[in-house]
Amino acid sequence: MATRIDGKELAEQVRKEVSEGVKNLKASHAVTPGLAVVLVGEDPASQVYVRNKVKQTEACGMNSFHHVMDVGTSRESLLSLIESLNTDPAVHGILVQLPLPAHLDSRDVIQTIDPVKDVDGFHSSNVGNLWTSGKSFVPCTPLGCLKLLKSVEPNIAGKNAVVIGRSNIVGRPMAALLLNESATVTIAHSKTKDLPALCRQADILVAAVGRPRMIKADWVKPGAIVLDVGINRVETADGGGCLVGDVDFEDVSTVAGAITPVPGGPGPMTIACLLANTLEAAKRAVS
Ligand code: NAD
Repeated sequence: MATRIDGKELAEQVRKEVSEGVKNLKASHAVTPGLAVVLVGEDPASQVYVRNKVKQTEACGMNSFHHVMDVGTSRESLLSLIESLNTDPAVHGILVQLPLPAHLDSRDVIQTIDPVKDVDGFHSSNVGNLWTSGKSFVPCTPLGCLKLLKSVEPNIAGKNAVVIGRSNIVGRPMAALLLNESATVTIAHSKTKDLPALCRQADILVAAVGRPRMIKADWVKPGAIVLDVGINRVETADGGGCLVGDVDFEDVSTVAGAITPVPGGPGPMTIACLLANTLEAAKRAVS
């Protein structure tokens, strides 16, 4: 049976390190890292994510600035808020919760964030730096996945890695991170031919698709490390619901060497890495 890679445990460890770093920064420079979270509209899932981010930011000793804007907020009002956060010395990290309402162009909004405060790592300057191995903020979900991977396999160089999904938030930055670790990386997506055969070549398989339990045991090379980013709500027999990943956990656990569960895998690591990025932004601001 595969080793279960525990995202909750590792996230707890990262949060402890961040709390320690925050204490040290306060002591050495009298600076408290601050994260501004901007939420436009009332999407219930986004409200839950934002609440968790605010709670965890405060729990590790950082300042949290929470801005809630009406669903009909204009582009000008949102950009003007971001510009004021860009110049606010108490704010070291800015996060705009996605998705935005349809009338707002998320690319346009992200490009307004000062790259030195872009703790989500979505600004094109940070994306470019990631792909050219420069100093950048790395998107939190792939960064968390890399930490989970390294917790079971420190030697990534030369391994075959297949990343399923090419989104800007997960798939592409995940591929860049693995390439920077000298893995041989293939990015698969909805148009990829014979996905199961491609996946069977992977020593490291990352699923970021959004299709419940799509990846089965016969897609996976024996001993492979499987990171399941997918979060999908499915109905249960009793009429309720539960969260499952893109990987059929029970089935794939019989073949893989190590596997992340859903929930409890990359999910908890995402916020922990956001906190780590915010601390890093504050450290850079004083250095
Ligand atoms: P997305 O919809 O932007 O991208 C999905 C990708 O999957 C696309 O590139 C598409 O080409 C590919 N795809 C779709 N169907 C496919 C198929 N049949 N075969 C191969 N590829 C296929 O989604 P995303 O934002 O990258 O998120 C992916 C999943 O990860 C979702 O379930 C999302 O909820 C989850 N997610 C989790 C976290 C976390 O914190 N754990 C963070 C972000 C996203």
